[in-house]
Amino acid sequence: MLRFKSLGSGSTGNATLVEAAGLWPTRLLVDCGLGIRQLSIRLAEAGLIEADIDGIFITHEHSDHIGCALKFALRHRIPVWMSRGTLEGIGRPDFDGLLHIARDGQGVDLGNLQFTPFTVPHDAREPLQLTCTDGASKLGLLTDLGHATSHLLAHLANCQALLLECNHDADLLNQSSYPPFLKRRVAGMYGHLSNAAAGEIARSVKHGGLKQLVAAHLSQQNNRPELARQAMLDALGSSTDIEVADAGAGTRWLAV
Ligand SMILES: [Zn+2]
Ligand SMILES: [Zn+2]
Repeated sequence: MLRFKSLGSGSTGNATLVEAAGLWPTRLLVDCGLGIRQLSIRLAEAGLIEADIDGIFITHEHSDHIGCALKFALRHRIPVWMSRGTLEGIGRPDFDGLLHIARDGQGVDLGNLQFTPFTVPHDAREPLQLTCTDGASKLGLLTDLGHATSHLLAHLANCQALLLECNHDADLLNQSSYPPFLKRRVAGMYGHLSNAAAGEIARSVKHGGLKQLVAAHLSQQNNRPELARQAMLDALGSSTDIEVADAGAGTRWLAV
């Protein structure tokens, strides 16, 4: 059995737990965009301690994803995966032998879990998002991208659950107090997904087995949970359970 839980989602910090059940469950922490104390608190709320984490995957170098990754990994001797570009982006710190380079399309076996990174268009050096599987079910994680590519849609085929960025509502972003350059950045090809763009992705990867969707990485200024939820409902209908990840609290544990 595979399950996952967002520990927080949005520009203030992202971290998601993915767990493959077993005699010894395997747990991957995707992104580490919190302070080390806050991460500890949220792990405890998830019923875990630091030693329960078997691996850390960092999607890209933006501070809302990298957070305390280096400190956390070194302190608890947890292996870390990231792209070479992301490593460059954080100034090549010394991970003391814990670092593994992640590459587009190259699956990684971690205990009962396999994860496969794939390239996405975002304004970072070499951003990767990923799918996770325990061999029976498949979870897709997709945040921080400006637009869909056929490459990423192929990777997201046949997921039973999807955590998908619904960053902004295009009208709210237009009307917001953001300076023009920032509006262009967010809405651009290498920025973030609007609810409508996320809806199109959801529509194109939709299949009868897609049971769970989490709308994630919502902008606090330029989106509303009910708008993201409606966009996903329009795309997927009522046969998929739709949750919206809270910026601070994330989500409850969700089965894939
Ligand atoms: Zn982000
Ligand atoms: Zn980013």
